[in-house]
Amino acid sequence: MKTAQRFRELARNLYWTWHPEIIAIFRDIDPELWREVNHNPVAFLKRVPAETLRKRSAELAIDTRITHAFHQLNGYLGERTTWGARAGGPTRLNPVAYFSAEFGLHESLPIYSGGMGVLAGDHLQAASDLGVPLVGIGLYYAYGYFKQRLDDEGWQREEYLEAEVEDLPIDVAMDNQGHPLRVAMENGNGKTWARVWRAEVGRCSLMLLDTNVEENSETDRGLTGQLYGGDAHTRLRQELILGIGGMRALDALGIRPSVIHMNEGHSAFATLEAARQVLERENRSFEEVRERISSRTVFTTHTPVEAGHDRFPADMLLGMLEPLRGQLRISEKDLLALGRVNPHDDGETFCMTVLGLKMARFRNAVSAIHERVSRRMWQGLWPSRPLEEIPIFHITNGVHTPTWLAMPMARLYSRYHGEDWTDRVHLPETWADVEEIDNVEFWEQHQILKTSLVDYVRRCVAHQISRRGAPDAGGTTQGNCLDYTVLTVGFARRFAAYKRATLLFGDLRRLDRLINHKKHPVQFILAGKAHPNDEGGKSLIKHVYDVTQMPEFKGKIVFIEDHDINVSRHLVQGVDVWLNNPRRPREACGTSGQKVVLNGGLNLSILDGWWAEAYDGHNGFAIGAGEEYSDPERQDESDRDALFACLENQVAPLYYERDHDGIPNAWVSMQKHALRTLPWKFSASRMVMDYAHSCYLPAAGALTSTYPGANGRRA
Ligand SMILES: *Cc1c(COP(=O)(O)O)cnc(C)c1O
Repeated sequence: MKTAQRFRELARNLYWTWHPEIIAIFRDIDPELWREVNHNPVAFLKRVPAETLRKRSAELAIDTRITHAFHQLNGYLGERTTWGARAGGPTRLNPVAYFSAEFGLHESLPIYSGGMGVLAGDHLQAASDLGVPLVGIGLYYAYGYFKQRLDDEGWQREEYLEAEVEDLPIDVAMDNQGHPLRVAMENGNGKTWARVWRAEVGRCSLMLLDTNVEENSETDRGLTGQLYGGDAHTRLRQELILGIGGMRALDALGIRPSVIHMNEGHSAFATLEAARQVLERENRSFEEVRERISSRTVFTTHTPVEAGHDRFPADMLLGMLEPLRGQLRISEKDLLALGRVNPHDDGETFCMTVLGLKMARFRNAVSAIHERVSRRMWQGLWPSRPLEEIPIFHITNGVHTPTWLAMPMARLYSRYHGEDWTDRVHLPETWADVEEIDNVEFWEQHQILKTSLVDYVRRCVAHQISRRGAPDAGGTTQGNCLDYTVLTVGFARRFAAYKRATLLFGDLRRLDRLINHKKHPVQFILAGKAHPNDEGGKSLIKHVYDVTQMPEFKGKIVFIEDHDINVSRHLVQGVDVWLNNPRRPREACGTSGQKVVLNGGLNLSILDGWWAEAYDGHNGFAIGAGEEYSDPERQDESDRDALFACLENQVAPLYYERDHDGIPNAWVSMQKHALRTLPWKFSASRMVMDYAHSCYLPAAGALTSTYPGANGRRA
């Protein structure tokens, strides 16, 4: 097989997205072009001149490396002794269907907006590595989520660019007659059609529904165009396509899932379609069937923030679901009751989270605190039960280690943990030997990562300034921003109010003293998008921008536009400290801090979400002690003070405490302690094993769980 053919095969399975050594092959062929095509190997291969490929192959042994990677991929796909193969029980024949409105797998496949999508991507990648039979179902958004630009006053501008579908690593899914698959969904006034794209994610597949087909009206063709764009009506119709269309697509492909896992409420209609499919074959009532469906359904709730729970007016819902309601043979009132906390309250809107909670027997929050908050939030669904008996438990989120780990660190761990350590990331003993890593070596590896982060930020900032075309008011060119040696704090996430991106900016004089400290200077890198309709979030970005332009902060606080997986990867791999200061208890889990630890960064966080269960007093820094005030202003003031105090008295002094070789040994000890205590516990492998163990196997009807637990224990 020729090199180009093998390259093409490699590019079409997203396996490469978590194998930096394969990415390095692509990049080495033509680094400029690689960047230009947004790290997309399919687009890259189309554009790279044959001459370049030939020449570089000869110089850099590209042929050999591609051949090696190709065999590595095929070996992976053919592996018969995975964890899932040993212990998968009924899921081995009938996979888990994992529904999510977004999947964040790589920057070149822009069908995600933020943390929840990235989590879904990590879930798929970890399921693939473990060999857990799982198929993802999502939507194909031709325009994805918006690209963020700031104008010359610091206001967010949104740009929607249409992806070239033939440049993406996805193929048309075929039906069993070998024709391109089409699924149809009735709604109140006619039918909507969808085609299905199929992406390979290692050993798992991902099906993406897309309404942009000729059979549809113009409006319907654009239905799946944008992620989280459009009004409630569009959103409802997208969710019908995801849930109902998704189940129909699986059926048409001959996939009979043993378990339905709904990642957040967007896909909760899948359970109604599952019921309809049973009712079509069996002469039963909806109530009888409902029990059977829920016993094999898992529902994960992701946020305590009210706006994160989709609600639709009763009329809108009834209109759209009329055909399905007929097939389910239930009354309007009974249908509405499925999405209402109080079935007798005619004024209550239809909530997708309520539908999910009512239709699933396995319901989970994503951290211990979030379990407590969710129980309180949904207590009304089980009015006779005390809080501790509300049937919502938790599985704390984790990150897919190989996706977020920088190559130099991966090499270091391979030397200490053994070559096959990524198969054992979820075991505490795998990480026990980090203490043996030489302090100097560890520190230097992290410095290399930090240097490349600073270089990356400089490229971004230079680019941003030239695009804005505005004169650079401060005189300094921000293309030379940041200092390689200064303690670097990162903050990147959605600009939602509760995440408080501007908490530190409430006291600019104290911030000035912190940043421009003679002995212990600090610098900040921020990034994040605000939802297009969130004017408050956009004002926060504007505030950040204004602060970055102040003479005392210029080049020391920088904002990187268009936070995506690429920006995120650079940041989490290179920062010294990762800041997370949400208003407790709003952060359901948070995962970006988990990515940082792998690469030698330390967390500085409010004791909320995952950090509340991760922090042990020595593996990072806590802001405050978990105080909660009912007055948000008082809360912000208290947290701001605690955050400044921690940076001034603990973080900065520890970072600059050096031995005669310039190594901050106490800091390195903390980094190592963080590595010993956190990555195994907050790995997506552990998370998927927990789902398998507590949800998938019991839901699939295994009498006793045959999956060994995350620690090799059995339940
Ligand atoms: C990891 C990640 C997130 C998650 O951020 P949290 O605020 O920690 O939940 C969001 N966006 C991107 C692009 C990420 O990679």
